[in-house]
Amino acid sequence: MRLATFNDHRLGVVRDGTIVDVTEALGNRQVLFPLTAMHHVIYDYEELAPQLRARAEAGPAQPLGDVRLMAPLPHPTKIVAVGLNYKAHSIEMGYGPKPAPEPEIFLKSPGSVIGPGGSIQLPDMPGRVFHHECELAFVVRSRLDSCPASQAMDAIFGYTMLIDVTVRGQGDRCFRKSMKGFTPIGPWIVTADEVPNPENLDIKLWVNDELRQHANTNDLIWSIPEVIEYTSRHMILTPGDVFTTGTPAGVGPLAPGDVVRIEIESIGSMTVSVTSSAAGPAAA
Ligand code: MN
Repeated sequence: MRLATFNDHRLGVVRDGTIVDVTEALGNRQVLFPLTAMHHVIYDYEELAPQLRARAEAGPAQPLGDVRLMAPLPHPTKIVAVGLNYKAHSIEMGYGPKPAPEPEIFLKSPGSVIGPGGSIQLPDMPGRVFHHECELAFVVRSRLDSCPASQAMDAIFGYTMLIDVTVRGQGDRCFRKSMKGFTPIGPWIVTADEVPNPENLDIKLWVNDELRQHANTNDLIWSIPEVIEYTSRHMILTPGDVFTTGTPAGVGPLAPGDVVRIEIESIGSMTVSVTSSAAGPAAA
């Protein structure tokens, strides 16, 4: 199933260019906590899935172009990221093909999340360069404390795409990656049953019409199960956490006025714009 959040925190099922509003399947869950509607789906998926399917079948379906997609998880419980996780990217940054004996884990702020059509707001930081990083992301299904690699794939609810925008240079990495609009996520979550081999997906990113990044997730240094095992040994993961797997080679600069498009096989594509934060707050 392709699960989206749209308009004013409505829950939708996407199929063949259309979307069906299935919010009513949530009962009063969504009414009480609109920001966390998708979290309810993740927590109660076994119970809700038949209802979601039935409502998606019944319709009515509206064209995707007629709705405004939000990030599927507008406020993830946390965003965990892996640094230097593609061989070719690690080499381009000057660190070699396997830079560290363990995965390099860091966090991004949930406050930096935007959805399709949103704006990355570049701050006024003279002399600094802002880079796009094109990444496959996944959503955690269950509470994980020391999850072994052998059970890790069962702990994934689904897959989505994430652009890990970054201020290069000195300063705390979490801050440099958590500025306004620095974490586009979307356009929806594809449940794990529909992505049988997440480590063999074509992944691409364009700036304007220039293809900047094109790789395959089979170039990951640390596999998804290895990353989950390592991280959950040291940090509690909870349902609704977004985990982003790292960027392949081809990172490059962004400037106000740019249009960025990310596309991953089996997931979809998503476009966001780039503005200057000096222009004032972007639409939420
Ligand atoms: Mn990254």
